[in-house]
Amino acid sequence: MKWSWRIARVAGIGIYVHATFVLLLAWVALGGYQSGGSAAAAVAGVLFIAAVFLIVVLHELGHALAARHYGIATRDITLLPIGGVARLERMPREPRQELVVALAGPAVNVALAAVIWLVLAATGGAGPLPDLSAPTGGLPGRAFLGRLLSVNVWLALFNLIPAFPMDGGRVLRALLAMRRSGYAQATETAARVGRFFALVFGIVGLFVVNNPFLVLVALFVWLGAAGEAAAERQSSTLAGVPTGDVMITDVRTLAPGDPLSHAVRLILDGFQQDFPVVEDGAVVGMLTRRDLMRSLSERGESSAVGAAMNRDFPVSSPEEPVEEVLARLKSCNCQALPVVRARRLLGVLTLENVGEFMMVRTALGGVSGRGERVI
Ligand code: ZN
Repeated sequence: MKWSWRIARVAGIGIYVHATFVLLLAWVALGGYQSGGSAAAAVAGVLFIAAVFLIVVLHELGHALAARHYGIATRDITLLPIGGVARLERMPREPRQELVVALAGPAVNVALAAVIWLVLAATGGAGPLPDLSAPTGGLPGRAFLGRLLSVNVWLALFNLIPAFPMDGGRVLRALLAMRRSGYAQATETAARVGRFFALVFGIVGLFVVNNPFLVLVALFVWLGAAGEAAAERQSSTLAGVPTGDVMITDVRTLAPGDPLSHAVRLILDGFQQDFPVVEDGAVVGMLTRRDLMRSLSERGESSAVGAAMNRDFPVSSPEEPVEEVLARLKSCNCQALPVVRARRLLGVLTLENVGEFMMVRTALGGVSGRGERVI
């Protein structure tokens, strides 16, 4: 994610904070200072937020480590003001595995709550859960721990609301998929339940308790339900399709000795944006539009394609599932990916042409990719 800094690396997974999160810290510190009137109040406020986000990181690590158990890598975990996001390479397709991965996050909160409760009970009895909106007490102590206990209980309950993009939405989908046959059907049903919850939150937030936070959550859930349904549609449309069936085969290529002006002509004629560079029948490089523009301004249009092209580029074989190649295409920051056999060019895969393929498939009524998922 742009505007994020890595603050730690746990079990090989980078933990990032987004710039907006630092703004939140500054805002809490300022609020604490203004209401408490002291630097200590500001520090206590920031400490509390930092502790909450440590809890959120542990929740996301719960998902990530459960996913790793099934051989699924996590790209990174990012802290946003609204919570944490773990980018898993994909979600497991097996309902039982999805259930475990989805439950692992809230399970961390339940475990943390139990530990804190035990500590409080052992040091003089755990009273009722303190009110989260009560002013921050002193620095870490019993009151502080009590509030962290509440945070864990709320995080577990909130995440188990059966609506996408909450963990509960995935739990519901996995349970439905275990009982019925189709994953797509289970997703549609879970997404519908999610939209219902979003409506209820929205109405209650607007007209009953007048709480803008609840309205925000409603919006978040509504969009999450739609996003998950769309991702699932993409997934089922592309499942099992080999890249060779989707790729463009009418491709213009360049030779390393061609002048850049030749590539400019092809772009202006509307053929492509990115060009495979072929020498003696083998693909030796890719000339992207960005490379072209940079070289044009640095070296002029008579310089050779070979000097401007990218020699380090991902490729695919025609047999590879298009879902996997699509994930590679999205992560390489390139527009087109050459499809080759024994270094010989067979075609090119672009995001645009995958989109067109899906449109045609959907129009034909065939429902049959799966990119990364956030949890
Ligand atoms: Zn979660």
